[in-house]
Amino acid sequence: MDCPDTCSLDVSVVNGRVQSIGAGSGNPDTDGFICTKVRRFTRRQYHDDRLLYPERRIGPKGSGRYERISWDDAIGEITTRFRATAEEWGPEAILPYHYGGSNGKLSDERLDHLYFAKLGASRLGKTICAVPTTLVAQGMYGRMPGVPFAEYANAQCIVIWGANPKASNIHLVPYLKAAKRNGAFVIVVDPARNFSEQEVDLHLEVLPGADLPLALGLIKIWRDRGMLDSVFLKEHCVDADALLNAANAWPVDRAAEAAGVARSDIETFAEQYAKASPAVLRCGWGLERNVNGGQAVAAVIAMPALLGKFGVPGGGYTMSNGGAYRFTHPPVPIPEWRTREINMTQLGAVLTEPLDPPVKGLFVYNANPVATTPDQNRVIRGLERDDLFTVVFDQVRTDTARYADIVLPATTFLEHWDVRVAYGAYVVGGTQPVVTPEGEPQSNHDVFAALGRAMGWEDEPFHWDQETAFRKVAEAVSANGDAMDVDRLADGAVQRTYTGGVVQFETVFPRTPDKKVHLTPDVLGAEPYQYREVGNSAFPLALISPANDKMVSSSFGEYNYPELFVDMHEDDAAARGIADRDTVRVFNDLGEVVCRARVRGKVRRGVVLMPKGAWRKSSMNGMTSTALCPATVNEVGGAARFNDARVEVEPRPSGEGT
Ligand code: SF4
Repeated sequence: MDCPDTCSLDVSVVNGRVQSIGAGSGNPDTDGFICTKVRRFTRRQYHDDRLLYPERRIGPKGSGRYERISWDDAIGEITTRFRATAEEWGPEAILPYHYGGSNGKLSDERLDHLYFAKLGASRLGKTICAVPTTLVAQGMYGRMPGVPFAEYANAQCIVIWGANPKASNIHLVPYLKAAKRNGAFVIVVDPARNFSEQEVDLHLEVLPGADLPLALGLIKIWRDRGMLDSVFLKEHCVDADALLNAANAWPVDRAAEAAGVARSDIETFAEQYAKASPAVLRCGWGLERNVNGGQAVAAVIAMPALLGKFGVPGGGYTMSNGGAYRFTHPPVPIPEWRTREINMTQLGAVLTEPLDPPVKGLFVYNANPVATTPDQNRVIRGLERDDLFTVVFDQVRTDTARYADIVLPATTFLEHWDVRVAYGAYVVGGTQPVVTPEGEPQSNHDVFAALGRAMGWEDEPFHWDQETAFRKVAEAVSANGDAMDVDRLADGAVQRTYTGGVVQFETVFPRTPDKKVHLTPDVLGAEPYQYREVGNSAFPLALISPANDKMVSSSFGEYNYPELFVDMHEDDAAARGIADRDTVRVFNDLGEVVCRARVRGKVRRGVVLMPKGAWRKSSMNGMTSTALCPATVNEVGGAARFNDARVEVEPRPSGEGT
């Protein structure tokens, strides 16, 4: 799944059916356990909502009424409709809408890209996640590989900023515990409370969007006290001035007020992190999802450079390690594709506002935009358009699939080949089919191959079988210059990469053109490190929608999150006359969500929380957190700003209809 850990799995199959899934051997980071989400994957595999056959819509959009059709009919109808659309409106009227799915290198941006590039379809800006972090890490460090998780056990100070390893990076947790036993000082920066007081030493409950002033306040303390590592800065860094000047405007009292944390906690953070060695920073994706996201990520990952925390095992930072891998050559050559780019975060507006040409054909795969894309009401209105031809290709009948004209059933990772490079652990894995699908699900590779052949295209990749495609992709993967052993990957072995260890500024270095750390990368725009406040007096509560331990994005929402809750601070609840489990209305100018309140100390005052990716059936009015999230985008990469949602919550009188 889309998870940094990239476990290897042992799957037990009896009479052609999966019986159990557990941790496989061969991947040291799996460490004998996997998450319950995947341990119970058989629930998705054999769920009533699993799509088994291609289907054609026979009821109104959204009704979920379909009839079974053959694959030949489905491929033929899509081909005919897309041809007609391209002829009447131009091929840019067709839009592929996808994200990572299970993040396999075969399942996304391979044959699908070849198909849509040859069609001349619009391109999709994949902005829903990880864009500011990726662009900033590229600009500052050239996506240098990060501190391996096992090294966290040796750190004397650990900072976890905007991440919840308990939900989405569980194999880091044992190392955090080991470090704590060894006397490490553990700091968490997060508006939500995911750790107990025994697990962490300092928790800064930063206000959503205010990570930037907090980071700048820390930097000002270190600068004023002469604690910056001037030797490291001189030898390895450039463009520090804009960052240090911006920090100058954030005395600790001002930073504390903006971030909503105690001045003394900022002082403690500054002191503990500065004096520790090794000190390591785990930077997550929570801090990027707001107007200041890109700027905040840059200020945060500048900290180890400013204090010279590199050069020792366990010292430095970890963000995504996806940049540790390269393709030596394109495994599926894509012809030049320079059509317009459409920002996926703004799908609602794209489908409902004038556009030239309008989107008339939509192909959704590896994604469930009704549940995951901001401005849910508008996304649904767009999908309801009668003149929009929509294909949804997925494993289960998602909220989005209910609006499709044609539904295509997709295989799971238990049924197809794929290549998986980790973005947390240092491993590459091969995925092999272990069962034959029930019904007629097909892999992404096979479906886009069939679509390409239906267009009459002769490109060789449209004629590869899955295993051939697997080998072509695996052959192209390189980690630190090392090629993969494709046969071993095909046999199920996990290939460890960077076997000599990763020590930043000892075994790995910035991959920027001049090998320096660029402390003010160009992606920060004309006003780097300038803070913008998001406030709305009518809607005083900040809504966050983080990852959780029940779903991977929206996957498993079909059964694993049956009832939607909004978490509130006890003071915010009391001020509104709301008690635990009361039915409430969460609302703003964009929409409303009716669900139950949970008042159990999960979030700080002024913040409410709903899970990322919940399905419509989990709430009482069929709307979820994205109905309240604006589709405005970050200046860094046009990224989504989910955590800029501001809302109000009120009790909902019992008996009021939904
Ligand atoms: S989702 Fe993450 S923790 Fe769970 S099995 Fe997959 S890689 Fe492991």
